[in-house]
Amino acid sequence: MTILDAIGETPLVPLRNIGRGLPREVLVKCEHQNPGGSVKDRLAKAIVDDAEARGLLRSGMTLIEATAGNTGVGLALVAAARGYELVCVMPEKMSIDKRRVLTMLGARVVITANAPPSSPDNFQNVARAMARAEGWFLTDQFENPVNVTVHERTTGAEILRQVDGPVGAFVAGAGTGGTISGVGRALKRGNPNTKIVLADPIGSGLAAWVETGELGPDGAYAVEGIGSSQPPTNLHRELIDGAERISDELSFETARRLCCEEGLLVGGSAGTNVAAALRVAARADIEGPVVTVLPDAWDRYFSAPWMRAWAD
Ligand code: PMP
Repeated sequence: MTILDAIGETPLVPLRNIGRGLPREVLVKCEHQNPGGSVKDRLAKAIVDDAEARGLLRSGMTLIEATAGNTGVGLALVAAARGYELVCVMPEKMSIDKRRVLTMLGARVVITANAPPSSPDNFQNVARAMARAEGWFLTDQFENPVNVTVHERTTGAEILRQVDGPVGAFVAGAGTGGTISGVGRALKRGNPNTKIVLADPIGSGLAAWVETGELGPDGAYAVEGIGSSQPPTNLHRELIDGAERISDELSFETARRLCCEEGLLVGGSAGTNVAAALRVAARADIEGPVVTVLPDAWDRYFSAPWMRAWAD
């Protein structure tokens, strides 16, 4: 038994207060309760398990990943439990709290500019180049199909077991797309009428891409870990029925309400997901509860301007 055995089987709880009065119940999957504090623990363990099973990894080797921070923390737990070195490449946009946590966990953190995917300075391109140059193992959450299959096999299967009757809709933002694609596949298999809805920050191009196949205009936004100016390989468009566009302001206000009114101590993208889920739950065509995920915990954002503003 190691701490890695505590990953997954997270609670699914109804929003009793902020969901009150809606025609459909909103249920939230508490991924912030994983040992590393985020949904990303699942894929960190699954990718390393898969690479070990295929003989690609041995204890003492170095893992490298491009991460908004949470995958890095998940990988740091796996690295500690299994004896790997870890290098995390992060864009400078991400909170200082995530950088500190990774450093405290013994990872080497490389910070890049907030550069678009077409630039060699983009965090994913930097991680790829370093992996190639040093012979390190790139866990590659953006391209590795295990990121989708782990959510199909675990997160999606758990939701099917935890919900009584058919799921009306599943709502989630996409960083790599692993969560929405994997859970979407499992739920559609359980009930083809379940609607899969992308929650996208205003400023990301993915909502337009889901709806039309063309990326929307690229803009700045402060929510971390979701949205993109390029469709990630692990985001499977054919599974997604529509998108909700959510402003930073509404995301952070909803995250604050989740903390203060529901006792769910979550980060900004949970606010995006829940704001979108509340809209979907008000729709007449949804036949069953609306499920979403709370990807990470509030303690990863204590120094972020949006959370510091709560206490002023
Ligand atoms: N929220 C946060 C805070 C994240 O770090 C991530 C992952 N980048 C997500 C949501 C999105 O998850 P996924 O990569 O599975 O699309």
